[in-house]
Parts: sequence; C-alpha cells; structure tokens
Amino acid sequence: IVRQTLPDSVQEVELERALRPLSFNDFSGQEKVLDNLRIFVQAALERQEPLDHVLLHGPPGLGKTTLACILANELGAHLKTTSGPVLDKPNELAGLLTNLQPGDVLFIDEIHRLNPVVEEYLYSAMEDYKIDIMLDSGPNARSVQIGLSPFTLVGATTRAGMLTTPLRARFGISCRLEYYQPSLLSTIIQRSAELLGCPISEDGALELGTRSRGTPRIANNLLRRARDFAQVLAAGSITTDVVQRTLRALEVGENGLDEMDNRILAAIVEKFSGGPVGLSTIATAVADEAETIEELYEPFLIQEGYLKRTSRGREVTEKTYRYLGVEMPNKYQQ
Ligand code: ADP
Repeated sequence: IVRQTLPDSVQEVELERALRPLSFNDFSGQEKVLDNLRIFVQAALERQEPLDHVLLHGPPGLGKTTLACILANELGAHLKTTSGPVLDKPNELAGLLTNLQPGDVLFIDEIHRLNPVVEEYLYSAMEDYKIDIMLDSGPNARSVQIGLSPFTLVGATTRAGMLTTPLRARFGISCRLEYYQPSLLSTIIQRSAELLGCPISEDGALELGTRSRGTPRIANNLLRRARDFAQVLAAGSITTDVVQRTLRALEVGENGLDEMDNRILAAIVEKFSGGPVGLSTIATAVADEAETIEELYEPFLIQEGYLKRTSRGREVTEKTYRYLGVEMPNKYQQ
C-alpha cells in the first residue's frame, strides 16, 4: 500500500516529478534552510562563482532531490543527477565531472553509499576542481591530471552519521531538513491538487496532511489515492468524505505512523516494559539497524511525543500506551 516513503512505479515517479516545486518560491517550509540557501545562491551569483558544495540530510521524502533541482534552477545551471550506489567506478565519475560546464550542479543522491574508491576521487574534484585519471593498466599505467570546470556538488543523504569525515568536511554548506507540520503539508497538498486539476476541500487537505507522517512524499501519495477514490465515487472532487474513505481503505492510522514506527513502539512496550532501553537492543528486537532507527524513525516519534530519549535509553510515553491501547504500568500513573 501507500505507506512507503519511496516512489515505486514509473508512473508514480513521473507524477512525483510533475508535482515537484521548481523555484524557492514554490517550496513550502524549511524556512531556515531556505533563507540561508537564498543568500548563498545570491552571493555566488553576484560573485560569478560556483555555489559552495551543499550537503542535504534528513529522512526520505522531505525534499532533498527537490532542493537540488531548485538550486540548479536558481543558479541558472544545468543539473546532472546520479546516486552513490550507481556511481561505482572512478571512470564513471570522471566522465560525469569532465562533462560539467562552469557552475553546473552535480547531484549525488544517497551519497553515504559511494564506493570508497570513487569517494577518494571526489575529494580532489571538490577541493581543487581536478581529477587524476588512470590511463592503461599494468606496466603502461600512468595517471593524468585533468582540470574540471568549477562546479557545485549537492549531496543528499538520509544517514548523515554514515558519511566519512573527509567527505563531510568538503561540504561548505550543510542543511538538515525537518519533518513538516500538518498545516504546511495541507498547503503542499492543495498546491499538488491544483496541479493535478482536482479540487479538494480544506478540511480534507488538512486531514491528509495530519496523516502523512510529516512527509511531503507521503502527502502527495495519499492525495493521488484520494484522487482515485474521488474520480470513481465523487465526480472527481476530493471531499472530506472521500478523504475519510481513502484513509480507511488504505488503513492509514490516525496519527499517520507507519508500520515500522508501530513495530518500534510495540517492541519497547511489550518486550521492555516501556523502557528505558538501549537503541541497539531495540534494533535487535525489530530486526533493523540502530542507525536506521536513529536517523529515519526516532526523530518523528520523538517530535510527535511517542518516544523520549533519556540518559538510560529510549522510553515510550503515556501517549504511546494510549495509542497502542495497552494498560499503563504504575510508574506512569503516579
Ligand atoms: P527526498 O529527495 O528528500 O527523498 P524529494 O525531493 O524527492 O525528497 O521529495 C518528494 C516529493 O515531495 C517530491 O515529489 C516533491 O514534489 C514533494 N516535496 C518535497 N518537499 C516539498 C516542499 N517543501 N513543497 C512541496 N513539495 C515538496
């Protein structure tokens, strides 16, 4: 169902592209990040220099790829896109880099998954706009240094903690994207609905926003499903009733938490009497990695008040017990 945070089919990817904001002014939220980027872009343009390298980090679906496109647009530059796992040979990186024009933006998604050899090559490219290429192999092997056009690397990662120190140090600008409030998501949903040519009630948009786990990608996914229900059941208009039916049909819970969120909370309550319990123990209990939980799941659960981070580990709250419908142990009732 629709709960995943990554796009799936080709059509979904196309639709996602159609809904993507193209300029700073189209982009809602993340004010602090946007205010800074606006200044840095304007300063770079005025000096006719490339923008310093930018690292965007934060959970999936919050707008990292979107911001990379916007940066290229606002700089009046071309955007080349690749990703850490795809870029697995130094020569592929060299090919991309040598084809960049002055000021271009190279976007590397999932940059924490770069092959270490490729990453080494990136260092001198980022720092000095130079790259050493190996020609031939065996006894004839020699390396040639090639100068590159000054460019901007925009790296995106969901796992900032997994970036190596030398790579992180080469980004002059580092921005952390935060989850979106429901009212902001409802604004994004209204904009998307307009682009899709599909009227939506204000209450309906807010309800979808509330159930989207703070994530624009999930909000847009839910909107598209609501549009399907509206088309078949309500002459194309997304009324509040259509939204309710959509959410029921997709089994989206009232707070928009996803399956993994629920598993984490249930594990802490059922296996560790509500905590405090260490992160790695939780990770083992839900069969995932500690870093994934820390970077992708925990921040939202903490923001929404389901989880607390204490010196002795993670602990659920009264709200969690109420949400799971489990009787609270005495310690909460004093
Ligand atoms: P990420 O790269 O962080 O996983 P994306 O940039 O691909 O996320 O964003 C996912 C979708 O959410 C995009 O299709 C985009 O339309 C939408 N989106 C993200 N952030 C915003 C925003 N601030 N305003 C409007 N739409 C947004």
